[in-house]
Amino acid sequence: MTCLKDRYCKKDEHYMGLALAEASKAFDQGEFPVGCVIIFNNTLVASGSRRGTASLEKYPSEIYHAEIRALQNFENSIADRTDINIIPEKCTLYSTMEPCLMCFGAIILSGIKHIVYAFEDPMGGGTSCDLEQLSPLYRESDIRVVPHILRDESLELFARFFSKKDNAYWKNSLLEEYTLKQAKIVKSLLDETSK
Ligand SMILES: [Zn+2]
Repeated sequence: MTCLKDRYCKKDEHYMGLALAEASKAFDQGEFPVGCVIIFNNTLVASGSRRGTASLEKYPSEIYHAEIRALQNFENSIADRTDINIIPEKCTLYSTMEPCLMCFGAIILSGIKHIVYAFEDPMGGGTSCDLEQLSPLYRESDIRVVPHILRDESLELFARFFSKKDNAYWKNSLLEEYTLKQAKIVKSLLDETSK
């Protein structure tokens, strides 16, 4: 018999798989591989992938994050969909990377109460900020964050991105260094278990 915890975990993995498909799409277009989906009542109601990082010459966009693009899509779904009455408080947002401070704030403002992410962001992750120190809207948001669902799958995609020679986005950054180091650790653990 599957326990309730496992059932939730399997469900989270399933939806994170959809977010990873969005991340792969971004990767294939030369973008930083972050993907995001929003689920309401077992239905995908919005998705988004990273834009604005592929061009080597231009200044990268720090607005077109996958979560922001999914939230834009989410607002359109709430306005346009007549088949379901989407309740933000009952939605879960899945992102392949820990949301940054901008996205974390926007998710809280959207009314979504549940975030699930795959790979932690030690450089720009915003979900560990102390909401108790902030103003009431944030302090009383009652948001829940679940980390590390399909972490290794997401990490693999980021490691591939940072291994590309022509990548200019966050080149030589703490995030690049951390990601490549983590990918090595995961690989050596896998090698160890396959012996
Ligand atoms: Zn962000």
